[in-house]
Amino acid sequence: MTTNDELHQRATARIPGGVNSPIRAWGAVGGTPYFVERAEGARLWDVEGNEYLDLVQSYGAVIAGHAHPAIVAAVQEAATRGTSYGATTEGEVRIAEAICDRVSSVDKVRLVSSGTEATMSAIRLARGHTGRTKLVKFAGNYHGHGDALLAQSGSALAVFGLPDSVGVTPATVADTLVVPFNEVPTLDEDVAAVILEPVAANMGLVPPADGFLQALRDECDRVGALLIFDEVITGFRLACGGAQEVFGVEADLTTFGKVIGGGLNIGAFGGRGEVMDSMAPAGPVFQAGTLSGNPLATAAGLAALELLDDAAYDAIRHAATRLQGHLAQAFSGAGIDAHVGRVETLVGIHLGADAPATYDDAKTTDEAAFGRFFHEMLSRGVALAPGAYEVLFCGLAHTDDVVDSIGAAARDAAVAIG
Ligand SMILES: *Cc1c(COP(=O)(O)O)cnc(C)c1O
Repeated sequence: MTTNDELHQRATARIPGGVNSPIRAWGAVGGTPYFVERAEGARLWDVEGNEYLDLVQSYGAVIAGHAHPAIVAAVQEAATRGTSYGATTEGEVRIAEAICDRVSSVDKVRLVSSGTEATMSAIRLARGHTGRTKLVKFAGNYHGHGDALLAQSGSALAVFGLPDSVGVTPATVADTLVVPFNEVPTLDEDVAAVILEPVAANMGLVPPADGFLQALRDECDRVGALLIFDEVITGFRLACGGAQEVFGVEADLTTFGKVIGGGLNIGAFGGRGEVMDSMAPAGPVFQAGTLSGNPLATAAGLAALELLDDAAYDAIRHAATRLQGHLAQAFSGAGIDAHVGRVETLVGIHLGADAPATYDDAKTTDEAAFGRFFHEMLSRGVALAPGAYEVLFCGLAHTDDVVDSIGAAARDAAVAIG
């Protein structure tokens, strides 16, 4: 039998760190990552035949659950007609219409192949459209790995960003200002755009403070800067219309990814027609992609969006609420300080007494305790994302039975680490 260890050794020989995305190496929690053999619904199996109840769900990309029959059928059908053409398809038109129908601030949308591409392109568009250079982002918000966005702030004051990665030059991030989440910065007329996760979901789960999104909207309007909501996680997950619908604040540009691909490679950015028409070939801002609007990805994404009616969001919200309750009870029962947060369908664990509001707060989580909790859960058949700052993703496959089993595992796991 192939083992996880054996594959891990082969992987590290030929792939840097053995992974194609760093978090998958389990650096934050230790141990040898499992290699997935297959997955169905809320369950996945590794190459050794171990079964896990999965709360990773491809970091939110498979909201319908793994290998959902409607999505599998859509991909199979699309594949028989060819996998990429370099010409436009009806599928692209249909998913663009589906996105615009569901998100009221989006009149036009451009499809790309990942969330990273969506945010990079949205920023180029914002700069090109406004003719301004500065970009404001919030500490602890993740927008993919585009150079200009790989900057954060360790300080509570607005500062010019320092690169997060070797290879990103100071000059590249010199026009990126990083400010604390949940505080409205004072902008000036050099600012092309402010980008944020309207619900921060890459520093654990940090909801926007009351009035924060509206005040930010007002400040952007005051100086004529564009407000970009990065809804790569929250789009089509918190609600059909994303965070904008939940909080009643509209963005000028919105980026999407994850859910809209049904588990295939897709991203998108969209907004008002007048802004989007600055994109080539309608306008002067260049952006392109050989595989953009890929027919398999649009088929999978459309199938996913079609499954997401009001009843589907009710079901996922119910699962998330139940999971939140189980986890909160598990930690308190074991005498562990924890705040289990929830925003609609998203759940996050903060291993500390108080709910975090900023990145600095979020970083007070007990990372070592999370690592122990991760492994105690894994040994009880529950797969969490291998990092203290990742959220927990429920989907259509997380029935009461599944969530209750996760809850039972969590009670024992919390006692084990407590
Ligand atoms: C995942 C994520 C991205 C990047 O998307 P990729 O498809 O991984 O490139 C961007 N923004 C947010 C908020 C994300 O969670």
